[in-house]
Amino acid sequence: MLDCVIIGGGPSGLNASLVLARARKNIILFDEDKPRNAVTHESHGFITRDGIKPSEFKRLAKQDLLKYPNLTMQNQRVVDVKKEKQGFSIYTESGDVYESRKVILATGLKEDIPEIDGIHDFYGTSLFSCPFCDGWELQNRPLVLIADNPNAFHKAKLIFNWSKDLVVCTNGNNIFSDEQKELLANNNIQIIEDEILALQGDKGQLNSIRFKNGYEIERTGGFVMAQLKQATSLAESLGCNLLPNGGIETDHFGRTNIEGVYASGDLTKATPFQVIVAASEGAITAMGVVNDLIKEDW
Ligand SMILES: Cc1cc2nc3c(=O)[nH]c(=O)nc-3n(C[C@H](O)[C@H](O)[C@H](O)COP(=O)(O)OP(=O)(O)OC[C@H]3O[C@@H](n4cnc5c(N)ncnc54)[C@H](O)[C@@H]3O)c2cc1C
Repeated sequence: MLDCVIIGGGPSGLNASLVLARARKNIILFDEDKPRNAVTHESHGFITRDGIKPSEFKRLAKQDLLKYPNLTMQNQRVVDVKKEKQGFSIYTESGDVYESRKVILATGLKEDIPEIDGIHDFYGTSLFSCPFCDGWELQNRPLVLIADNPNAFHKAKLIFNWSKDLVVCTNGNNIFSDEQKELLANNNIQIIEDEILALQGDKGQLNSIRFKNGYEIERTGGFVMAQLKQATSLAESLGCNLLPNGGIETDHFGRTNIEGVYASGDLTKATPFQVIVAASEGAITAMGVVNDLIKEDW
């Protein structure tokens, strides 16, 4: 029986694997390699790796892991996990079944961005989700925030730190209170509630936004508020408690309410969503697993 299976090889699962491997545990890391940040060319904010291509980050991480013979990496999807009397059975898409004492879920989140004509041409190159990740590159430019939910007020305040030239487009929705509208107007942040027809530009570079009622505005970059949801139903089918925001509930060491199941990274929805945060959660969770294994074995 394996000591631990890690499901998901993003920054969180990769760093959890490193810590577990170095603690001499026999582990398998499963990764289907469809990360949320695949659309972006540069990942920022991780010291020594600022601006790295996400696929290159992953290549370097896997290279680090190769030197540990007690760790195997498999590039495939886990389709089910079942709790047994002792440990867990892990079922893969190729039909293999593995047994493990512990399981770390590090499967990340999936996102839905508003279905606006052209949006996918710019998302990841001049439209992003997080100003801490990509605000520096967009500073002082004429920016747009495309948002259809009330959290847009907080996001607009945040983005204003990087550019004072900001327009919030609600795409036909009325999401702000009168007080919020006044506060935004006091800071010269324009709100446009008209429906968007299309985003326009060239080679990933946004140039303008066209509205259904005929006019357009110049905007050369910005942010989109995406709806985030669990990438898999594994946590739910194992019976893990979910938080009201849809994240998996854990303690500080990534333990869920199901003994032997741990969760780390974006999927706990303990924001901010960043590579360095996900990696550090992976490390802490792996330490939790090692401590629990040691406790059981003594
Ligand atoms: C457009 C965009 C730009 C971003 N820019 C930055 C940035 O500049 N800096 C920064 O720090 N952060 C950035 N982020 C956020 C960052 O990418 C995430 O916070 C981080 O990747 C989360 O890591 P994770 O390991 O939790 O999940 P993920 O990176 O999402 O990895 C999860 C992995 O699990 C795999 N998986 C899922 N289900 C299964 C399964 N059943 N079996 C096997 N494998 C499975 C997935 O395919 C994926 O490879 C950006 C995000 C986006 C969307």
